This record gives sequence, C-alpha cells and structure tokens, in this order.
Amino acid sequence: MSTKIEIEKNLTSLKNESPLIIAGPCSAETEEQVITTARLLKNDPRISIFRAGVWKPRTRPGSFEGMGEVALPWLSRVKKETGFKIAIEVAKPKHVELALKYNIDILWLGARSVVSPFVVQEIADALKGTNITVMIKNPVIPDLKLWIGAIERVNASGINKLMAIHRGFHFFEKSPYRNSPMWEIPIELKRIIPDLPIITDPSHITGKRKLLNEISQKALDLEMDGLMIESHVNPSVALSDAAQQITPSRLKDLLDNLIIRKKKGNPVFENSLEKLRNEIDKLDGELLQILARRLEITDEIGKYKRENNITILQMKRWAGIIRDRLSIGAHLGLDEKFLYDLLKVIHKESIIRQTGILNKKNKP
Ligand code: PEP
Ligand code: MN
Repeated sequence: MSTKIEIEKNLTSLKNESPLIIAGPCSAETEEQVITTARLLKNDPRISIFRAGVWKPRTRPGSFEGMGEVALPWLSRVKKETGFKIAIEVAKPKHVELALKYNIDILWLGARSVVSPFVVQEIADALKGTNITVMIKNPVIPDLKLWIGAIERVNASGINKLMAIHRGFHFFEKSPYRNSPMWEIPIELKRIIPDLPIITDPSHITGKRKLLNEISQKALDLEMDGLMIESHVNPSVALSDAAQQITPSRLKDLLDNLIIRKKKGNPVFENSLEKLRNEIDKLDGELLQILARRLEITDEIGKYKRENNITILQMKRWAGIIRDRLSIGAHLGLDEKFLYDLLKVIHKESIIRQTGILNKKNKP
C-alpha cells in the first residue's frame, strides 16, 4: 500500500531522543479541576501539551457527555497561565468552528469518529484553510486502511501538521487491556508513512492505572514518538475514565521511571550491529529461496492431485507435519505458538496455490 501523505517537516523535529508528552484529564469537568490539574502538570517540564475532552463520545448514552462550549474559556485560561499548548477532540464541524474561535492549538479525531469516512470528511472539510495541528486516533477496529484513509482525508484538506495516536483496538477476546495494542499496526503505519509522528495513548490501551508504565515503556522501545496520558487532580472522582487516570505526581513518577533508549549507538556498536544485520539479510535471502522451492514442490504435488483427482487438504498428513515440525522446533528452542502460526501461514499459501492449479481450465 502506498500513500501520498505530506507531513510538514518541522514536525519531524519531534522525532528526537525525548518523547513528546501530552497530558491532562479525560474530560474538562470544572474550571477548578482543569486549572488545578494544569498547574500541577506544569511542574514537569517534560510535558508540553495539555489535553482535555470537551465533547465526550461515550459508548452508551446516559453518562457524562462533556461540558461542551462552556469548558473552552477554561482551556484558554490554562493556555494563558501555563503556556501549555491545548489539545481537544473534535467530532463535528461545529466543534472545529468553536475550537478555532477559542484558539485551541491542536485538534484530535477520536477512535469512534475515525471509523466513519463521512464523519472524517465533514471534519476535514471544516479544517480547510486552517493551519492547525491535527492528531488522528486509530479507529476502534483494527483496520489500518481506515486509519490511513482518515489521515489522507485530513491531509487532502491542506493540513500537513499531522500526528497519529495509537490508542489500541477493540478486541473481543478476554485481555488484560481495555483495548488491545496490536503493535504491528502502528509499526506498519510507521513503515508506510515514515515522517508521521505516532503518539501512544497508554491510558486508553490499558484502561487501568497499574498497566500504564509497561505500555509506556514498550511504546518508547518501539520508537513511538510520544505518549498521551490522562491525568486528573483527583482520579477517583473523575466523571469519565476514572480507573485509568493518574494524578500529576504519579505521572511524574511514571516519566521518571521510563528508560529512554538511544536510537543510535557508538561507532563500535554500530559496526557490530551492521555485521549482524548483514548476517540477517543473508539468512532472509536463503529463507526466501527455501520458501520458494518449497512452494514449487507443493505446486508439483498440486498437479499430481489434479491428474489423479485427489483432494487438496489431507488432514492426516497436515496433522503429521504439525506434530513433527513442532517437535523439531522444540529442540531448536522455537516458541510453539510462533512455529504453529508460521506453519499455518505456509500451509495456507500452499492450499491457495494448489486450489489454483486444481481449478485451472486447461491442463498444463
Ligand atoms: C479520549 O481521548 O478521551 C477518548 C475519548 O479517546 P478514544 O477516542 O481513543 O476512545
Ligand atoms: Mn478518556
């Protein structure tokens, strides 16, 4: 997949050794709560952006849905008093209009809005002609194309100060997290749009305070460009997302404990790294050749099966392969689940190719 997204280069200055830290309450609840939280967060120079939800997209009706427009002057006050840049979520054109009126610095599109191309397009249209920074959260469902589509829509409106926010994905299986991180998705986004900063939102991934540290560390170890963490002066009485918010002082501890690893080492390290990487490149080349040979042989088998009118999937053989390879793998120290998944992917490709051969109109 390719894309023509243009990211303003000055944003790549974010991509340095120190991560961008965005903090603030899930929701702006009262002027007092917003100002007190912001003042406490201001004690930590690592935090540069203050977030607060003004309109809250709640999954079910009947709970607190944000204070709306009345909260915007509170945020202007935070900006004036602390110098923080202010970020809020916008979900419709009216929100964009009001945010611009109150000089909000950064807007974000929430995970529930990003699933709808209509909603995203309406917001993108409202953004035309502005030069504001926009952050785009991943959609609730694990669909990278939908995420990139939203980024493209906003970019096509002339917005090139863009960032992505990784807040995890809805996942039906039981998990320790509120939203599964599925790290492979933001990593693939990074590969496709290397200039786009990606900020991880450990609060919405974990849904609980005690898991925030590990997800924050993992995000940095995977070269994400920053963190957005919900912080409330008194989390236990928060009107939304109480279980995942932390006090500013606990946020300071979390940041103190983060290990910020370097992206590059000294020349000796870089040299040995390069040697090892060359080795990997060579092995990958061999692996690909072996894979191609293996598939050629399964094609051959496909032709025999076709000539003799035999079914493609032979359960006994497949069960035997799994048993045998897993036992060899165990001796080689390969993780069972990893190997099982790998064998399934290879087997699936063999079946696809053999099905193609079986269904070919003219015999070769
Ligand atoms: C939020 O940031 O408070 C929020 C509602 O997030 P999300 O869109 O990721 O659920
Ligand atoms: Mn929240």
